[in-house]
Amino acid sequence: MNVKYLYINTIGCQMNVYDSEQMAGHLALLGYQQTAFPEAADLIIVNTCTIREKAEQKAYSFLGRLARLKRKKKSLIIGIGGCVAQQDGKQILKRLPFVDIVFGTRAIHRLPDWIRQIEKKRCQIVDVELTEEVRADEPIIGWQGETQSSRFVTIMRGCDNYCAYCVVPFVRGREISRPPESIIKEIRSLVSHGVREVTLLGQNVNSYGKKEGLCSFAELLARIDGIEDLLRIRFTTSHPKDLDADLIGSYRHLKKLCRHIHLPVQSGSNQVLKQMNRKYSRELYLDKVSKLRDTSSNIAITSDIIVGFPGETDADFDATLNLVKQVQYDGLFAFKYSDRPNAPAVHYPDKVSESRKNERLQILLAMQDAITRKKNQALVGSIQEVLTDGLSKKEISSKLADGRQPLQATGRTFTNKIVNFYLDAQVESSGDIGTGNLLDVRIEKAFAHSLWGKPVLAQPTAKRVKGVDSYAA
Ligand code: SAM
Ligand code: SF4
Repeated sequence: MNVKYLYINTIGCQMNVYDSEQMAGHLALLGYQQTAFPEAADLIIVNTCTIREKAEQKAYSFLGRLARLKRKKKSLIIGIGGCVAQQDGKQILKRLPFVDIVFGTRAIHRLPDWIRQIEKKRCQIVDVELTEEVRADEPIIGWQGETQSSRFVTIMRGCDNYCAYCVVPFVRGREISRPPESIIKEIRSLVSHGVREVTLLGQNVNSYGKKEGLCSFAELLARIDGIEDLLRIRFTTSHPKDLDADLIGSYRHLKKLCRHIHLPVQSGSNQVLKQMNRKYSRELYLDKVSKLRDTSSNIAITSDIIVGFPGETDADFDATLNLVKQVQYDGLFAFKYSDRPNAPAVHYPDKVSESRKNERLQILLAMQDAITRKKNQALVGSIQEVLTDGLSKKEISSKLADGRQPLQATGRTFTNKIVNFYLDAQVESSGDIGTGNLLDVRIEKAFAHSLWGKPVLAQPTAKRVKGVDSYAA
């Protein structure tokens, strides 16, 4: 088979990262190898996101730049997949006539057939059917790309929640869960290739399997916890309205479940939450946060917040600030509200001005930055178990005491905090480095978004529960 080159530009969330890996896996069967250079590619795919207007603009701007490449290389195949493809369908061919294929979020497994056809007949294809079958959508199981300690695994697709601001149900379709056996088979395959941590993906993992009568999400976690040589499990996202006692309880008894939850609140105002169709109140949310902390005292909690939702008043925004102060998140993703096609909030009155949205975003981010710094600072002096994610590619100017160039590695704590550290000769020779190893690191410095530490080899006498609790040095 002739080697052909594939370049994928992935824009957007973890689900798109997973989908791009799937595309690469399917296309490898047609002889396509990935390249990091669009100029070298025979096939370019842009996997797009439309969650906010900016992401959509990014996709169109990248695609626009490809016209020049296509003029130079007539045989080049250009494809657009993901949420913008699903949303705009055949309109894209009017806007960008040099595009060969537009394929939606549920058409990934059909991609090889379409590409084969284009290679043979040079035709244009649009496939944006939102199929509901999950079996046909089974992932390609096999190894693609270099070894990574951590990988994403999509356990369900689509969403049935219809939050008023959100385009996801329209571009990713109705919610469908994969059977547990299929998920476990995929994770076992990843583990056999050196993966030590998986992040399970779904728009609302709490409703996993409910429609199909499969096992519950908590049961799925328990089954995955039993997979040998897998060290850590993460998941995202959990909708606060459906976070139940079983899942909260999993943080007590599952050894591999990382003590971190991403629990998007979106707003601290009951009025805004109602308008957003989130189906929980501020009080219910805070109650779930305290139950989580009662179950696992050191659990890290992160969130998403939208500022400037239509009708959001100064008092509503103050309620959000107040909630952030109360919860003391470990991290926060804050977004300015953006009108999306089909999402009901597009038609809501009392739109908040761009300048006010900017102002609110800055105030919120400054508040969260101070909280994160304080939380990170509190970890200085502790020893954290870090899952190594390989050597940092960063050029390092400083030298070690023995004059050698230090190697900088990176990893994450059990609570999902990024830790960077130099590897000294002792650690290097111990073999506890590289990708997918657990290493004890003493935290020496705290920054806004990461920690800096030094690996420790000798175990201190202090008692420690593996992974779960850090201990003072
Ligand atoms: N399913 C997840 C949940 O319910 O939290 C959210 C998935 S969405 C890809 C990620 C985040 O994007 C949301 O939590 C929300 O904060 C943000 N988002 C979604 N639509 C938005 C919009 N129209 N404008 C601004 N932010 C938006
Ligand atoms: Fe969008 Fe709401 Fe579904 Fe999350 S739960 S994907 S915010 S509709």
